[in-house]
Amino acid sequence: MQPGRPILFRNGTVLSMDPAIGVIEGGDVLVRGQQIERVGRDLPAPDDAEIIDASGGILMPGMIDTHRHMWQTAMRGFGADWTLTQYFVFYYLNWGKIFRPEDIYAGNLLSAIESLDAGVTTTVDWSHGLRTPEHGDAAVEAFRAVPGRFVLAYGNLLGAPWEWSNSPEFRSFVDRNSWDDMLGLQMAFDVTGDAAFPEKGAFEAARELDLRVTTHAGVWGATTDDSIALMWDNGFMTPKVTYVHASTLSPDSYHRIAASGGSVSIATESEQSAGQGYPTSWQLRKYGIPASLSMDTSVWWSGDLFSAMRATLSADRSREHLEAQNAGETVVHNSLRAEQVVEWATMGGARTLGLEDVIGSLTPGKKADVVLIKNDRSPVMFPILHPYGHVVFQAGRGDVHTVLVNGKVVKHQHELVGIDLAKARSAVTATVEFARREMGGQEWNACMNPEIPATDVIANPYTYTDYKGQGVAVRSDS
Ligand SMILES: [Zn+2]
Repeated sequence: MQPGRPILFRNGTVLSMDPAIGVIEGGDVLVRGQQIERVGRDLPAPDDAEIIDASGGILMPGMIDTHRHMWQTAMRGFGADWTLTQYFVFYYLNWGKIFRPEDIYAGNLLSAIESLDAGVTTTVDWSHGLRTPEHGDAAVEAFRAVPGRFVLAYGNLLGAPWEWSNSPEFRSFVDRNSWDDMLGLQMAFDVTGDAAFPEKGAFEAARELDLRVTTHAGVWGATTDDSIALMWDNGFMTPKVTYVHASTLSPDSYHRIAASGGSVSIATESEQSAGQGYPTSWQLRKYGIPASLSMDTSVWWSGDLFSAMRATLSADRSREHLEAQNAGETVVHNSLRAEQVVEWATMGGARTLGLEDVIGSLTPGKKADVVLIKNDRSPVMFPILHPYGHVVFQAGRGDVHTVLVNGKVVKHQHELVGIDLAKARSAVTATVEFARREMGGQEWNACMNPEIPATDVIANPYTYTDYKGQGVAVRSDS
């Protein structure tokens, strides 16, 4: 691939996610410079264009993850069996303090590369491991090394948000970096529900700096309706707030989010495993709240929005069937459709970031964040009959063939382009060795393998008896 030449994707199924363009079978996408120039059929190829054969594949906008604690990717999979309580004890109480700037760098670098590989062209780094501005510099350094689009949501789980956000060190960090649509800045902090509302100072800092705020809300046992009420009463619920999870809130809180123009980041795999509450898409539908999708953290899960789309659609339908069946009824039409979760993974994320005019759809004039899902060696890539359903239930990250970010090829023919995976590997290896040494082998193992609660198997009134050789079960008391 020669940099600087126009790129013409030829003859794919185009999911533009732009209502004015819709789905185009046998469609082309022409990219010139940083932008999408044309979308249509049989586009004339510029003389110097690189042609990418998209036949048998699906072209879609780059996916957008609106909440991931990227630094935790250095501990990938460590917490696979955790609950939220175990996560809190690990990071907030015991071990969050050990992670150094180079560990933030390592996790962010690997997570950023993982995003691009999976077709996630924009990732919000909910970066609450920034104990010092040097940790923040390390996060930024990782993003500068990877040709993706990122938003640093600056946070510090060991500090008070009203203090760090107003410190000269943080203000200097904001001033000495340049922020744009390739690397944006937000503030990330939670509202505890303390009636004195100490977070007020942090919201005022965000307002003064004109930064969006992302906050874990409606998290069972942690952030409740009290937090929403405090934000509302103090005038800090605006369209520039993202409510992460929002899975255990009252009707009044959902109404307030809807009325204020805020949006919710649904992290279904997280909510299902960690226990913040039931994945909230079924509520958002009722209250008319805009949504985006997120993966939360690779200390448990992947950084792969195929998983997010699939889990979210399945969880929503599970809930709808369960509620109907509890009422003795049958769902005959599913409310949530595959198209909707693809929309949340693309335009929904763009809206959440205030970048709906820049990314999120294959619209001429927008920045060229483009994903080609194509895998000629896979038995799963044909036939493509329902393209949205294909993206959600059939395709996976291994089918991501080509990825463009800002017009630049970062993955082609299933291979990352211009990305130093070996560097990420050695950085993460060093972090893992460091963390294991700091914690000690016994603590390391104990944290990774939490206790399993006892399960009482219910006494079974039947005994399996080979009754006359027929293999028939009989009641043991009969
Ligand atoms: Zn989170």
